[in-house]
Amino acid sequence: MQNSQLRPSPITPTVDFDARGMQHGHLRLPYSRDDSAWGSVMIPICVIANGEGPTALMTGANHGDEYEGPAALFELAQTLDPARVNGRVIIVPALNYPAFRAGTRTSPIDRGNLNRSFPGCPDGTVTEKIADFVTRHLVPLADIVLDFHSGGKTLDFLPYAAAHELPDKAQETRCFAAVAAFAAPYSMKMLEIDAVGMLDTTVEEMGKVFVTTELGGAGTASARSIEIARRGSSNLLHHAGILKGAPDLRPTRWLDMPSSDCFTFAEDDGLIAFTRDLGEPVKKNDTIARVYHLGRTGLAPIDYRAAMDGVLAARHVPGLIKAGDCLSVIATITENT
Ligand SMILES: [Zn+2]
Repeated sequence: MQNSQLRPSPITPTVDFDARGMQHGHLRLPYSRDDSAWGSVMIPICVIANGEGPTALMTGANHGDEYEGPAALFELAQTLDPARVNGRVIIVPALNYPAFRAGTRTSPIDRGNLNRSFPGCPDGTVTEKIADFVTRHLVPLADIVLDFHSGGKTLDFLPYAAAHELPDKAQETRCFAAVAAFAAPYSMKMLEIDAVGMLDTTVEEMGKVFVTTELGGAGTASARSIEIARRGSSNLLHHAGILKGAPDLRPTRWLDMPSSDCFTFAEDDGLIAFTRDLGEPVKKNDTIARVYHLGRTGLAPIDYRAAMDGVLAARHVPGLIKAGDCLSVIATITENT
């Protein structure tokens, strides 16, 4: 992934990644614009280091409208005692910072979707410059990477931590062991619609342990979903040996997305009326939702049916849907622990 032909990153960290103790600073990315000729994007970063243990990189708001990660990580940066740390914790609570400030999935500067911009480019857009810095300067420091996601403003998920099937089965086993240690109410073997450009793929191709999440959504976070994020990030630090003691393990239900049949996409615009809620079982051919025509009465709604047995793991929000939107995700329960 690392290309020596690339020019240096324009991002300047105000923290020293080799220093001990706790540092709060920024990744300063020059961004010249109308209201600030020599201005910068200032991405908050916290580095906590002590002892000789491994390094964890923890990131939130890779998509700017997903809030469990930022809520847990701003708190962790406030509360983690360096004296308890054996190793290094690098916390970036709001990775796509312009998108986070705007409350949008993509950046208002360049419409960049950070998690489709990896490995990035040092002389590309602002979003591509952030991705490039993460790829070439943050991930190489890390042994384990946790990247928080949830559904944003247009999806809502059962709360789960996830990893992917990988060609290197020893690495895959390490990733799923970390998912188990996160101990969300659900744990997923995740299938991506399109893995190109994702941080996930970049980290996995570097041979690191990678855990992602989907912890809720609908453009907000609940007390419950924030608590899952808080416990999960602490658990991963215990699992990695950076914090002493065992993870606070809770029961989890293991889910699988065995094929692309798990995704349903809308083929119509309309009002969506779900007939199942998240976590409820569905059988193949059951109606999951009805989409009503918006403009007149007397037209039959379009029924959307499950293509497989399972539980409803994700659904569209808010109440109106457009052709092409992801309407639902069904997952199969493989095991309870
Ligand atoms: Zn996301």
